[in-house]
Amino acid sequence: MIAVTGATGQLGRLVVTGLLDAGVPASGVTAVVRDPAKAADLADRGVVVAVADYTDPAGLQTALQGVDRLLLVSGSEVGQRVAQHTNVVTAAAAAGVGLLVYTSAPKADDTTLVLAPEHQATEEAIAASGVPALVLRNNWYWENYDAQVQQAAATGQLTGSSGSGRAWPASRADFAAAAVAVLTAEQPGTGVLELGGDQAFTLADLAAEVGRQTGTEVAYADLTPDEHRAALLAAGLDEGTAGFVVALDGNIAAGELDAGQGGISSLTGRPTRTLAEHVALVLGR
Ligand code: NDP
Repeated sequence: MIAVTGATGQLGRLVVTGLLDAGVPASGVTAVVRDPAKAADLADRGVVVAVADYTDPAGLQTALQGVDRLLLVSGSEVGQRVAQHTNVVTAAAAAGVGLLVYTSAPKADDTTLVLAPEHQATEEAIAASGVPALVLRNNWYWENYDAQVQQAAATGQLTGSSGSGRAWPASRADFAAAAVAVLTAEQPGTGVLELGGDQAFTLADLAAEVGRQTGTEVAYADLTPDEHRAALLAAGLDEGTAGFVVALDGNIAAGELDAGQGGISSLTGRPTRTLAEHVALVLGR
């Protein structure tokens, strides 16, 4: 049995359907969800739906009975995730799960990335549990930039404060395909994989690509962190969100997402979505 948590989320859903597409029988896939109503389509396809919140240790232990391989999709409730993820890890250990796969963050154990501490603590909880594990340190989703692509196309301006910092994005579908490859591999191995797309990019590259596809000049304005924060507040973001975005751009400027080439395509055997392909999708071209 292969189980996927966060199965009604964007990534988890792609993994569940990817497993079915890869030929895993639906009766051999468990979608662990907190709201079964959101999993009705998966149940209709024969997927086993188990209901358990990350805050529910007993529910998680029941959900993971008989599971050989588990994908723990990191949760979205920032600040609560260490306790939540630890509940899943404890349940996996109790259920005798043979392989725990976890979606972590780039360079999670050696980075100033603002999102990393919860991932690092989860990686430590996994290591302490003794459950054989493979950590997938997922780089950035292309989809994180969709609003900026739209805005750049509409205004001819792209602003940020990540300088010439590089990331190695791929689409959610690419990251899901990598997880499917691991979950279905005969010998998936254990340890840590830094997973990213085939091409690095900067925000200046994004501006240039939007300009190329719209046929207009699109400039990337690299702001100081203070200027960036002021621009975000003026655009209506609250203090907390603006500070978070600026901190992330600072992390990118410092190279924290420059975690090296590829990873995904060597697992899936096919190239990841390119910058040009993603911009075209967002702009409907
Ligand atoms: P989503 O927000 O679409 O999915 C998050 C999933 O976590 C949902 O299924 C949600 O359940 C589930 N979840 C959250 N809290 C709980 C809880 N208390 N108990 C049970 N399930 C819970 O995110 P994505 O699928 O796009 O991304 C997956 C994860 O990757 C994110 O949660 C985040 O940790 C990380 N991420 C990575 C990014 C990157 O660029 N690498 C960018 C953004 C996020 P429900 O469906 O019921 O809401």
